[in-house]
Amino acid sequence: APTLSDSAQRLLAKRKALFGAASVLFYDKPLELVRAEGCWLFDEAGERYLDVYNNVPSVGHCHPHVVAAVADQLAKINTHTRYLNEAIHRYAERLVATLPPSLSNITFTCTGSESNDLALRLASHYSGGRGVIVTETAYHGNTAAVTEVSPSSARDHALAPHVRVVRAPDSYRVAPEALAARFAGDVAAAIADLADHGITLSALLVDSIFSSDGVYADPAGFLAEAVAVVHRHGGLFIADEVQPGFGRTGSALWGFQRHGVTPDIVTMGKPMGNGLPMGGVATRPEILDAFCAEVGYFNTFGGSPAAGAAGSAVLDVIEGEGLMANAEAVGAYLRESLGALAKRFPVIGDVRGAGLFDAVELVSDPEAKTPSPELASAIINGLRQRHVLIGAAGPFGNILKVRPPLCFTRDQVDILGAALEEVLTEIAP
Ligand code: PMP
Repeated sequence: APTLSDSAQRLLAKRKALFGAASVLFYDKPLELVRAEGCWLFDEAGERYLDVYNNVPSVGHCHPHVVAAVADQLAKINTHTRYLNEAIHRYAERLVATLPPSLSNITFTCTGSESNDLALRLASHYSGGRGVIVTETAYHGNTAAVTEVSPSSARDHALAPHVRVVRAPDSYRVAPEALAARFAGDVAAAIADLADHGITLSALLVDSIFSSDGVYADPAGFLAEAVAVVHRHGGLFIADEVQPGFGRTGSALWGFQRHGVTPDIVTMGKPMGNGLPMGGVATRPEILDAFCAEVGYFNTFGGSPAAGAAGSAVLDVIEGEGLMANAEAVGAYLRESLGALAKRFPVIGDVRGAGLFDAVELVSDPEAKTPSPELASAIINGLRQRHVLIGAAGPFGNILKVRPPLCFTRDQVDILGAALEEVLTEIAP
């Protein structure tokens, strides 16, 4: 087992004292990381780790083009957001051009949570309703209002009265041809139940790659039927693109595009600034107008000149380095490699995903498809010992989330595959 260096021990003690109970760290023996580059992380002793977890530095850790763009802007001017400045307008224009034409207004924030918080307010204002439908293990952020619609944060207490959950679109356990109708049926039942309780529908809010539910991408298009049901009942569809956005799913810049739907509101975050805290909410002008006529919105840091510089630089790299095509090709190779391992190790029940957002589901009984969080945890720790960093998702924590920076290579897939094979040989021969 890895040991903690003196430096890491000192930081851990400090952290416990200063951050108290709210400190979240990976691993019993947490890593102290001091430097990063591409898909590699380096600890204080100079040891290298393959990053299969981070989707925030999505175009690669410390990408020199992004670093230079932000540094240049910081050295010129960076203020609150009440002035005209070229950098953020140039970025907004580029960003809006990637979205369906109806979503022509963008509001900048600093986090995914702020984006979803604003989206809920916009939807409620426009629809006149308060009811929100989310998936059963969804996470949408950390504000008071967003925590109310994040079942994964509310495990031990009831969700708010205006919230209904629907089952995740579990393509491993439900036949592909039945998935769209099951999901839409659950949404219709949730709307009916809200109505029975005198609550009008405001929105269906989903992460279009269903990351915390366990990563469900297929069959492409399965969301469309549910979105139609929501629209028929006067609700809005909010696509949470914090996880799938900015090219992660390979074939499209946005996850909702996989489903051939046009959201009423799109929320963004994580990869937007490659590590600079940035978020955004895109919507139709009439939705934003109605809200701002009565309430208005201001965000001190959201949409600063530095954010504009970072956002544009991220788009430059996605386009210039062909990162969507890379995510598509390397993602397919990854699913093929891990699929080959699944044939040898029956504890791998399913390999799925899109682009470089993939999942490996661990089961103790492949026939019954019994989730095994123990196996997932043993694998995560075994990989960590082999210097490969990965995490888990899903209601039971038995699904490995394979979500490296978008510059991940075939060689790096092979490193992950070899390490996983070693760990599986050791724990589940
Ligand atoms: N939506 C989704 C789907 C997320 O995964 C997260 C963060 N994990 C958020 C929203 C919240 O983003 P942030 O942590 O930037 O507030």
